[in-house]
Amino acid sequence: MRRAFRGSIFHCIADPGPHAVESAVEHIEDGMLIVEDGHVVQLGAAADLLADIGDDTPIEDYSGKLIVPGLIDCHVHCPQVDIIASYGEQLLDWLNKYAYPAEMQFGNEDHAREVTDFFLDELLRNGTTTAAVFATVHPHSADTLFAAAEERGMRLIGGKLLMDEHCPEQLRDDPGSGYADSKALIEKWHGKGRLGYAITPRFALTSSEAQLEAAGRLAAEYPDTWIHTHLAENQEEVDEIARQFAWSRSYLDVYDHFGLLRERSVFAHCLHLDAEDRELMAAKGGSGAFCPTSNLFLGSGMFDLQSMSDSGVRVGLATDVGGGTSMSLLRTMSEAYKMLHIQGQPLPASRALYLATLGAAEALYLDEHIGNFVPGKEADFIVLDTEASHITARRAAAAETLDEMLFALIFLGDDRNVAATYLQGNRYAG
Ligand SMILES: [Zn+2]
Repeated sequence: MRRAFRGSIFHCIADPGPHAVESAVEHIEDGMLIVEDGHVVQLGAAADLLADIGDDTPIEDYSGKLIVPGLIDCHVHCPQVDIIASYGEQLLDWLNKYAYPAEMQFGNEDHAREVTDFFLDELLRNGTTTAAVFATVHPHSADTLFAAAEERGMRLIGGKLLMDEHCPEQLRDDPGSGYADSKALIEKWHGKGRLGYAITPRFALTSSEAQLEAAGRLAAEYPDTWIHTHLAENQEEVDEIARQFAWSRSYLDVYDHFGLLRERSVFAHCLHLDAEDRELMAAKGGSGAFCPTSNLFLGSGMFDLQSMSDSGVRVGLATDVGGGTSMSLLRTMSEAYKMLHIQGQPLPASRALYLATLGAAEALYLDEHIGNFVPGKEADFIVLDTEASHITARRAAAAETLDEMLFALIFLGDDRNVAATYLQGNRYAG
């Protein structure tokens, strides 16, 4: 069935860059988005399209509100939603004290299901329609995640973690079982509807060389799967990698050595890289997930967007909950702005939105399906309402341009301002 959505419509058609190139974005003040069978059919001015669509096309009227593409979170941990905002540690201690205990609880399937349902609903309430998600080491955690995403109609990339050393005994698999369980999950879920599988070694510290080798074998057998892991988050971690893999030139070299750097490889953080790493990542098609709230919260370091972009590395925004402190990609954009600002790198509102829509879709190699409103793409979008909180209503009333309003909404907005979330043209009711 054909349906029309009317409102102020904004999307990116390319990277606006640090100086907000105007031709990279499209804004239609009184716009109309026409959707059929879950896909965008047409986008234009309401005045032009109203005459064409005929009386039998229902119109959902969001006049006065902003319609933007669904937000995309390039790296987030489902089981860690319950330990978000836990005090006081840097990465390696934080994992031991908070993350691993929370992940152990996923051994209980009922608990895993309850947390997963909350997690996905919270993503959708925050306007996140697609995410690349870490489950836990337990194979049923990935089954649960995919089943729950399928029920909701979400596009989602996920995987069972691979971790066989330097972590609690209860969270270990082994190279053989990790390979076999991942393979079975790929056969069951990868390419089913809107779901994609990511081979997910937690990070190089928690996998033996035998396990990394098995992961690389799987990646070669299934070249259209994703690879999702962490890279160069914390200096202590980087130093430990240099000790554990003494033969390697760098942390990235470890993944590359085992065949885990290729197109659809997504690396969370990428804080402590050198120019050679960035060149290699760009040449092989790997992507960086920029996780500003997590990097600041865990005191990990600064993400150098300018150098990543200049090297040609694909970059998307990510919350990295529970190291990250908000499920909201609006809040995450505001922290990205601050982290870049202190490095002398501008982040205009249009580029912030790009990093969580089209840029994130490019980083995940999903831009043929999602990321903006080009006809033929899947109709995932959200409706942003500045009237939903006192401060956003007041600030938006004083804004003279869309750019000014969007920038203020990025800083002041949260899930209250997400009036509606649509997956393939269907409103998600939660
Ligand atoms: Zn993470």
